[in-house]
Amino acid sequence: MTQIFFSAPGWDEYEPFLPAALEAAGISADIVTEAPAPAAIDYILYAPTSPLQDFAPFTRAKAVMSLWAGVERIVGNQSLTQPLTRMVDPGLTESMVEYVTGHVLRHHLGMDRHIINPGHIWDHACPPIARQRPVTFLGLGELGLACARALQALNFPVKGWSRSPKSIPGLATFHGEAGLQEALRDAQIVITLLPNTPDTQNILNADTLAMTAPGAVVINPGRGPLIDDAALIAALDGGQISHATLDVFRIEPLPQDHPFWAHPKVTITPHVAADTRAVTASQVIAENIRRAETGEPLLHLVDRTRGY
Ligand code: NAP
Repeated sequence: MTQIFFSAPGWDEYEPFLPAALEAAGISADIVTEAPAPAAIDYILYAPTSPLQDFAPFTRAKAVMSLWAGVERIVGNQSLTQPLTRMVDPGLTESMVEYVTGHVLRHHLGMDRHIINPGHIWDHACPPIARQRPVTFLGLGELGLACARALQALNFPVKGWSRSPKSIPGLATFHGEAGLQEALRDAQIVITLLPNTPDTQNILNADTLAMTAPGAVVINPGRGPLIDDAALIAALDGGQISHATLDVFRIEPLPQDHPFWAHPKVTITPHVAADTRAVTASQVIAENIRRAETGEPLLHLVDRTRGY
């Protein structure tokens, strides 16, 4: 019997799906939410909000499987010597695509001026069509690429930036430090879907915000530290950036006295862009445990040196 320690909040969400998914994958499992005998555990399903921080006693564990896509809060844990996987969940990806597409279309179509129009102004100015609105993604991984494809399907000209070179039909791709300026050049909407690593922190700063088209919009559903907050506020005040839609922050919940709350050009969403969905994530977990049990390579392994 495979021993699985569910070390995360929200077991009630997984209970209807995970045992069934494991059974369908041919895994006979005992799932526990407490582990008084850590040496008996085979797999740890983990969220960084769990009290578990010391993985050393889990001497038999074959993998730690993060229920979150972002792993910056676990990747540096020195007691973690087991393989670490991150969550790539089709349900999470779908919700990120919906979030990004919705917020891009809000800004592209200028919806706000019709939704909030106390002066009843008959503003007949029509927005450009999507093919006239260049969009840039910083991050072309599971989420960035899925969102890029959705916007491409709506005819937005899409550029994407990643660490390693990529060749993706229909997409203008750039990589590395040298490619960042070209990726941001002329961008009217910039979406940050990078992991939080030492290399990506403050990637949107005074210099890079100045590389976009004047009046560009920033949408950040990636991680708070990707943006230099003070530089963003200065760019909003100066007009280089016309609006920022932010889902993630350096401190969450965003402190009440943070200037973002009161800024008229900032929309705050409370880290709701994309949650792991238990129904689809359970399939991913079951497949990965099946792989581990049959000696196949694990999916979605985290590279500890890259940090994602
Ligand atoms: P992923 O598949 O690992 O993709 C990460 C992308 O970032 C890759 O394209 C990678 O380049 C690129 N990248 C990493 N470091 C870079 C660097 N130094 N320079 C240039 N590009 C770099 O991750 P994902 O699944 O798309 O998720 C992205 C992030 O979204 C997560 O890490 C998490 O922080 C965030 N997230 C937020 C929410 C929310 O609700 N707001 C939900 C889920 C995830 P390569 O392709 O070359 O490796």
